[in-house]
Amino acid sequence: MSSNAPGAASVKPMVVGNWKMNGLKAALSEALAVDEALAEAGATVGSEVMICPPATLVMVMSELSGKGGMTVGGQDCHTAETGAHTGDVSAEMLADAGATAVILGHSERRADHGETDQLVRQKVVAAHRAGLVAIVCVGETIGQRNAALTLDVVSRQLAGSLPDEATAANTVIAYEPVWAIGTGLTPQVTDVAEVHAMIRSRLRERFGEDGEGMRILYGGSVKPSNAAELMGVDHVNGALVGGASLKAKDFLGIVDVYRQK
Ligand code: PEP
Repeated sequence: MSSNAPGAASVKPMVVGNWKMNGLKAALSEALAVDEALAEAGATVGSEVMICPPATLVMVMSELSGKGGMTVGGQDCHTAETGAHTGDVSAEMLADAGATAVILGHSERRADHGETDQLVRQKVVAAHRAGLVAIVCVGETIGQRNAALTLDVVSRQLAGSLPDEATAANTVIAYEPVWAIGTGLTPQVTDVAEVHAMIRSRLRERFGEDGEGMRILYGGSVKPSNAAELMGVDHVNGALVGGASLKAKDFLGIVDVYRQK
């Protein structure tokens, strides 16, 4: 299958690392190694490369990196700009710290914090208000897949989590089957193709040209050994990577899939 899906030839792929609740200051060397490798590769990189560390590292990582064009994102934000929300971080704070994007509606937040599509949509609005790109996660559980509900679930999450003002420039979708996250399991490429094609057609129906250009990442146990196959599926415009983004060598092995040799 070709990554140059019809109408998507101008879509620049994106490889995003999600460090989750991992990373002390000592881990910054891994992010810097990624940025340095990108600087060496220069124009041949072929994708936008981003790391989303824990909030504690966003500012220092964005200040130290950038030589190679690596960008930095957050992993969640509150809906409000400021206020009495102890422990929360606003989209404006992430932007102020140097983030250019924020992951929203990750399945771990949906499961651990009861985040609904409606709340995710409000967070996407907050991200846009602060000038951040919203990386919006959708995906089915294993029970839903076994009950043949995947397309319904993903379609419903997509409809509920995106505001009408989403554009190709301010929003990225990440399809992440919940059962593939951190398990080493991945769907068949035909299953990935089916879900990404459905997402593309829903985006087109709702957002027209913008829906055509909105990037759709695949996430769930992406590693250097399976990245080329997964990234080669139609309408897969990059990857959201958890575990394999913690080590520069592994993450760069995935980034390399888009390298123009
Ligand atoms: C993720 O948490 O977004 C993810 C895709 O994790 P992993 O790559 O470890 O499956």
